[in-house]
Amino acid sequence: MQAVYLTGHGGNEVVAIGERPMPVRQPGEVLVHLHAATLNRVDLYMRDSGAGITHTLPQVMGIDGAGVVETVEEGYPGLKVGDRVLLYPGVTCCHCEFCVRGDEVLCTTMKLLGEHRDGTLAEYISVPARNAVPMPDGWSFEEAAALGVNHLTAWRMLMTQARLKPWETLLVFGIGGGVSLAGLQLAKAMGARVIVTSREQEKCDQALALGADAAICSSTHDVVKDVMRLTGKRGVDVVFENVGAAAWDAALRSVVRGGRIVTCGATTGDQPGADLRRVFIRQLQIYGSTLGNLAELHDLVRFCAQHALRPVMDRVYPMQEAHAALDRLASGQQFGKVAMSIA
Ligand SMILES: [Zn+2]
Repeated sequence: MQAVYLTGHGGNEVVAIGERPMPVRQPGEVLVHLHAATLNRVDLYMRDSGAGITHTLPQVMGIDGAGVVETVEEGYPGLKVGDRVLLYPGVTCCHCEFCVRGDEVLCTTMKLLGEHRDGTLAEYISVPARNAVPMPDGWSFEEAAALGVNHLTAWRMLMTQARLKPWETLLVFGIGGGVSLAGLQLAKAMGARVIVTSREQEKCDQALALGADAAICSSTHDVVKDVMRLTGKRGVDVVFENVGAAAWDAALRSVVRGGRIVTCGATTGDQPGADLRRVFIRQLQIYGSTLGNLAELHDLVRFCAQHALRPVMDRVYPMQEAHAALDRLASGQQFGKVAMSIA
């Protein structure tokens, strides 16, 4: 089968496009004929370093994906040959303390597609049948693939961790990337008020067109000052953050007393100064979050179908143009998901 796979680490030279062996379906697994995947920042991390992530090369890239069920055991509940499915990216043990309590995203031995094992930038993949989730009706495979990582991450951040309420105000830093756009979309669909920031005016304008209530261009405006003006000097209820060091101080100063900050990334650096006095005197709550549980993915799919919410797509590349797609993601110029069509 054709696949995009890593032969080493460091730049696009190590990304190969060519033949890899067909996966062999094991008992309890589903063989999926993949039609699309989208790129995530972790793909760049795996390409450039992969440090700290146990894996063996060559390894197929790609963490999210969607396709059609090719083979599955007859009678498997809710799944049959020909079904259109998207994939939950974590293969978990089902037995550890965290899996048993239904928080398998914390599984001590979780293996992620495209990180610890072969991923989704391939014509076929075999995963435990529970990892295949029926796609919403009428969606493209690219849109469905996008739900499995970015939207799932944003969903857990807002619903499970920060528990955003419809009458609250959310501040999303760095609009344009997949997770921050998912945060904007989900929070608006919930009914919350959403303020976004970006260094680029164009991305601010695009976010306003998508329904953001206000947008602050951080290269020309003081984010904290504008947030205070927009909230009657009160601050926002929840800050949604994955920018890291460059936004952390503004995040701490933009949130209301007793407010929540939820973070899932640190693109600009992971060691910001922390004003601990502000954290305890103002009783701020800080949540770390990454990915989500399988049950949360099922909830998310239903929520998206009910609210006619679809991921924002930037560009779709054929698999043969994987290098250009990775460059597009690395450039930071994208607005929405960079997707790969697997024909
Ligand atoms: Zn486990």
